[in-house]
Amino acid sequence: MPSPQRLAAIQAIQERPAPTTAPAASLQELWASDVFDLAKMKAALPKEIFKSVQRTVKENGKLDMSVANVVAQAMKEWAVSRGALYFSHVFYPLTNSTAEKHDGFISVQSDGSTISEFTGKLLVQGEPDGSSFPNGGIRSTFEARGYTAWDITSPAFLMETPNGVTLCIPTVFISWTGEALDKKTPLLRSNAAVNREAQRLLKLLGNTEVAPVNSSCGAEQEYFLVDSAFVPLRPDLLLAGRTLFGYPSAKGQQFDDHYFGAIPQRVQVFMQDVERQMYKLGIPAKTRHNEVAPGQFEIAPFFEAANVATDHQQLTMTVLKSTARRHGMNCLLHEKPFAGINGSGKHVNWSVGNATQGNLLDPGSTPHENLQFLLFCGAVIRGVHLYGPLLRAVVATAGNDHRLGANEAPPAIISVYLGSQLEDVFNQIKEGDLKGSTAGGLMQLGVDTLPEFPKDPGDRNRTSPFAFTGNRFEFRAVGSNQSVAGPLVALNTILADSLAYVSDQLEQQLAAGSSLPVAAASVLKAIMQDHGNVVFGGDGYSSEWHQKAVTERGLENLPTTADALLVLQRPEVRELFEREGVLSPLELQSRFEVYAEQYVLAVEVEAKLVLQIARTQIYPAVITYLGSLASSLRSQEDLGLAPDRTTAGRIASLNQELLSHATALEVALAEPAHGTATHMRHCVDKLLPLMLSIRQAVDSLETLVDDAVWPLPSYQEMLFIR
Ligand code: ADP
Ligand code: MG
Repeated sequence: MPSPQRLAAIQAIQERPAPTTAPAASLQELWASDVFDLAKMKAALPKEIFKSVQRTVKENGKLDMSVANVVAQAMKEWAVSRGALYFSHVFYPLTNSTAEKHDGFISVQSDGSTISEFTGKLLVQGEPDGSSFPNGGIRSTFEARGYTAWDITSPAFLMETPNGVTLCIPTVFISWTGEALDKKTPLLRSNAAVNREAQRLLKLLGNTEVAPVNSSCGAEQEYFLVDSAFVPLRPDLLLAGRTLFGYPSAKGQQFDDHYFGAIPQRVQVFMQDVERQMYKLGIPAKTRHNEVAPGQFEIAPFFEAANVATDHQQLTMTVLKSTARRHGMNCLLHEKPFAGINGSGKHVNWSVGNATQGNLLDPGSTPHENLQFLLFCGAVIRGVHLYGPLLRAVVATAGNDHRLGANEAPPAIISVYLGSQLEDVFNQIKEGDLKGSTAGGLMQLGVDTLPEFPKDPGDRNRTSPFAFTGNRFEFRAVGSNQSVAGPLVALNTILADSLAYVSDQLEQQLAAGSSLPVAAASVLKAIMQDHGNVVFGGDGYSSEWHQKAVTERGLENLPTTADALLVLQRPEVRELFEREGVLSPLELQSRFEVYAEQYVLAVEVEAKLVLQIARTQIYPAVITYLGSLASSLRSQEDLGLAPDRTTAGRIASLNQELLSHATALEVALAEPAHGTATHMRHCVDKLLPLMLSIRQAVDSLETLVDDAVWPLPSYQEMLFIR
């Protein structure tokens, strides 16, 4: 029998009214209805103005202030007609979250009357108080000016909340001195770098017509749903987003019965609600299914331009969380909310392409003849080999550390999976003897009534952190709670850098008289000889690989954030970002400081929660139980029975253990740590192990103490009751 507070939570869940589905609406009705997209602009703007906007969006042209004034007017009229009283510059500070500053359309006239007003200047530029956002030492608080500037390439939209409707304008966030304080600015710069270098290479390859090149992203989001009734009883879930205690449920994910299983009705209604809102916001939600762990689910949109996909990903996280609350659930985006079962990731599917050459990572059916593909793919391989540690650094967070390398998610060693067909092609290139590509062939199902279908030329590899999946790469090490901007910036930047290398080499060899095919073969061969070590098709989870990767392949294993973030301070990384015009050394250093500080803060908050819960909830409950146990033992003796004292003894000694580790943790928390790197190490070497020791004592106690006094909702309850 659960304790009274847990019982009350369970009863509240059982008494919840059946979920109601939103009224049916067609995709046409819903689609982008809350977005001021190009179609709405076309209808609302004079032809010339619209053409100018289109040029800016599609061809990266400059935005004219006179155009902005007209757009602002039309945008306001549309928003007001939909009930908006406020507008907000939405920006993406370095915290993985979304920030907004709301302003009314209201403007007071000299005679005291009011009109609604929205000028080009208000649309284009805002000035939130920048000092309260993390800036990693770029500015002191006395020089707090920060500006937001309209990103015309990401459409404005309406956000409906219980407080009303707000016109949201995606913006970049920069300091008065021009440094990027956000995640969008470097992403836009990295796209510009890819565009510059991809165009250069495409022209070298003889393409006469080359449209602007952009990166694309489709991000799969994993998440957990827990009934909200449990959350106030779990301060760890409430404040840290993950459970710091909890004995594994007797039934976990061993049966593999949850993955792709039937989606529970309540969750289905929730998902439909989420998708409805996403459609209205113009986010192309495409697939949904159960994930591996009980209570775990996934949503994936159709891919979009990386910049728009990134804004949409942030919105998706917001919509998931707010909708869950309305359905009486909490959406947990933490990378590892529950120990012992799978955590959550965010697979970032990424490619580059343009309107004239299409997807530049599409190999076609005969990749060995597709020089353009081979050079782009070769450039990716080179980049991942040279800057693998950087890719590890951009997924380094306190939450993701619990997941990476934990035999459920890719290891902290960054390698590239190509699939058998491409691995074979690139091996031939390495040997200098490119003959052909093996074909996928037809899938024989052995049943006449089933259709034959073509087999993919390569299988999937779920154990690789960075896998080629047919016409894109899938970066699988990204954390579920993270903004995808950082990973995309890193991928775009290393690609731009490698494309520049490829073009340099090609130009040299062409100038020396080589033909294009000969020059390309030689550049590719050199890439594979220098960087082929990063290509790995085997089991990334195996301990053998963890060893071999380091000793034989020379790859780095950076197990924790404290190891990985230091990569941002390496000279070659600093030079890379500076060379490609993506981040200045100051901007990069500020990111190191901010992310390190966030890591330390996250661990320290958890450590404090561990202390609080262990001392004020677990210890007293155990003491109470020991008291009643002792009196029951005495009465058994009085009756002349031989009572079992061992269990009571174990409970008492575990409770003592809990106390002594708690004291040690308290001391460690108070120890001064000088310098960012030392502080992160202190978390890894001292705080986290002590937190784990306390957890082990508490989790053992959970299996021995009477359920009727246990204060925390159990894993079983949180994962299975809904
Ligand atoms: P899986 O679970 O098999 O990896 P999903 O269908 O869940 O596949 O997700 C694949 C994601 O990859 C989708 O968001 C899809 O739109 C995206 N994607 C497909 N092509 C590209 C591309 N060229 N660039 C970026 N993302 C892509
Ligand atoms: Mg998937």
